[in-house]
Amino acid sequence: MRAAIYHGERDVRVEDVDRPEIEHPGDALVRVTHTAICGSDLWPYRGQSDRDTPSRIGHEPMGIVEEVGDDVRSVQPGDRVFAPFVVSCGECEFCRRGLHTSCVNGDGWGGDNGGAQGEYVRAPHADGTLVRIPDRYADDEDALQAALPLTDVMGTGHHAAVSAGVEAGDTCVVVGDGAVGLCGVLAARRLGASRIVAVGHHADRLDLAEEFGATDTVLGGEGGVDDEAERVRELTHGGAEHVLECVGAAGAMETAVGAARPGGTVGYVGVPHGMGDGLDLFPFFGDNVTLSGGVAPVRAYADELLADVLGGTLDPSPIFTKTVSLADIAEGYRAMDEREAIKVLVEP
Ligand SMILES: [Zn+2]
Ligand SMILES: [Zn+2]
Repeated sequence: MRAAIYHGERDVRVEDVDRPEIEHPGDALVRVTHTAICGSDLWPYRGQSDRDTPSRIGHEPMGIVEEVGDDVRSVQPGDRVFAPFVVSCGECEFCRRGLHTSCVNGDGWGGDNGGAQGEYVRAPHADGTLVRIPDRYADDEDALQAALPLTDVMGTGHHAAVSAGVEAGDTCVVVGDGAVGLCGVLAARRLGASRIVAVGHHADRLDLAEEFGATDTVLGGEGGVDDEAERVRELTHGGAEHVLECVGAAGAMETAVGAARPGGTVGYVGVPHGMGDGLDLFPFFGDNVTLSGGVAPVRAYADELLADVLGGTLDPSPIFTKTVSLADIAEGYRAMDEREAIKVLVEP
């Protein structure tokens, strides 16, 4: 089969590899029909994080079950499924608490199960990991594209909103206008926030944030305001009680805590990077700002978010601004790297 292989900085190639096989009774083999390139895939791509070379890449698979092991009960061949960015058993202490990212039997994609940017992937612990899409929607392309972000970014944006404590009628701030930040806006609106201030560095992405429900936008970076947090404090008369940090960079965390109202909460989901000497706790200390969140257990949210996607009230698919075939995945990486595309959908 064909699969994307990471060979080093700005070097992703599609090559022939062995097709994965059922290895354990709980495994399922999935023929991937839709997958995506993630902002986190760009770090190794840009040489900003270490990754083995060569190695399989991708962690957002959706497809058709091809074959299942003897113990698999929840899916059968022919079912349309997707999987979150980590494997989880669904049965351990942490899975039962909705913290699937800490599953004691957990694993990532890549390595020997395949990486999700390829024609097939082996899903370990299929009963815990895979989310089945009802047959009625199994070939509805619009529904599938709207569900694909539940593999990662939509669940992650939702985790930011939940961690920040967003409830109906609240004012909140979303820091970041990448795919996760935009999904954070959708999540905050879905939870009933009445005012959503989106902070980003790209005017076109902030336009999409408005389409997704942002009531105010703050453009920072080149050509924008110098102090994003100050602008948010002006707009909100002293900051918001709920701030979603959806980037992970040190500057974004600074903006987030600066935009929080005294006593407020920052829900953070951006993978921390560039923190240098570590996170400065004094801004949190001085105003009793709570820091909550971490890596998003998207499997815990998949069923409720999928219900809204299939019900037509939640549609994150506009974040996919470009679609490529697997053969052209290098072009997809280039477009995301150069910020031509917010997020790229890949069709093996
Ligand atoms: Zn991802
Ligand atoms: Zn588990």
